[in-house]
Amino acid sequence: MPREMEPLHVRGVRLPDEQPVDLWIRDGHVTYEPVLGATTVGTGWIVPGLVDMHCHIGLASRGETDRAATEVQALASRDTGVLLARDCGAPGDTRWLDEREDLPRVVRAGRHIARPKRYIRGVSVDVEPPALAATVADQAGRGDGWVKIVGDWIDRDAGDMTPLWPVEELRAAVSAAHAGGARVTTHVFGRQALAEALQAGFDCIEHGTGLDDELTTLMASMQVALVPTLLNVVDNFPGIADSGAEKFPAYAAQMRALWAGAPERIATAYQAGVPIYVGTDAGGVIAHGRIVDEMATLHRAGLPLDYVLGGASWRAREYLGRPGLAEGDPADLVVFDADPRLDLATLAAPTRIVLRGRVIS
Ligand SMILES: [Zn+2]
Repeated sequence: MPREMEPLHVRGVRLPDEQPVDLWIRDGHVTYEPVLGATTVGTGWIVPGLVDMHCHIGLASRGETDRAATEVQALASRDTGVLLARDCGAPGDTRWLDEREDLPRVVRAGRHIARPKRYIRGVSVDVEPPALAATVADQAGRGDGWVKIVGDWIDRDAGDMTPLWPVEELRAAVSAAHAGGARVTTHVFGRQALAEALQAGFDCIEHGTGLDDELTTLMASMQVALVPTLLNVVDNFPGIADSGAEKFPAYAAQMRALWAGAPERIATAYQAGVPIYVGTDAGGVIAHGRIVDEMATLHRAGLPLDYVLGGASWRAREYLGRPGLAEGDPADLVVFDADPRLDLATLAAPTRIVLRGRVIS
């Protein structure tokens, strides 16, 4: 049992149901029954703790981070209101984070699974296709209900980006994940790997820049989730293309084509009813703590701010099977002084962040 904690009180409009509430926090949990002697620590708009649906805690552009750097990443996320992170692949063991009451909760996907020489060196578990399903089963046992497979990457022999796996191996991998109680997601940039991931029955798609009208319709009908990491795409695809332009012109051209119009394709996916969530992809070239920038990028692409905020809070929590702000739920919440669905500036300036029942800022 945690040591006795001071009872707290928050008053305001709760999202997403827009109910005016008095919310008390007792022993780290939410209650709507008055608690005597509670200190009021916030008033305004009350939002379930934010969720970064795609980040990497324990990974930086140069590879695995040590504990001190990993802690800095987790704190940077937390201080923007991110109290739950879906880690989409980290090379090391970050279980020690779970012991720290001051750091966000993490839902892990184990290590990235890729093929030799077909991903960033030192980050992934690299196997050939016949070993994919067994590796997925193994990683399912190490994560928190998710497995992450790298779906496409540059193939230096082909001089272009191509899928890593035959569809049959992907199907077996999805079965292995589901049998192990995990959902499975995939990093895909190009159209072919995205089409094959949908055929194989993946639960979720990361980046998904290869969407076209046909795949959008299919994805919407299957209700496969999409985490566009749009900030990373918009900011970094041209640089990736440039770096490969001389040796791999076909690859560079494909990356540029995927970059051009990516915001418009995400907006089309939203209109078609593809469930879209907010992930920063922090831990590669993107720094931690940029959830509001990703929300802004999605909003600029044409997604309503209310929908975007849900995709970084209550909808994301529901999708991950994590609690919101019902009676008895863990007190992970963010308070804003105005309606955060109306203004990005409000979103960027939470007035109170409460994690596990403790005020952290
Ligand atoms: Zn990523």
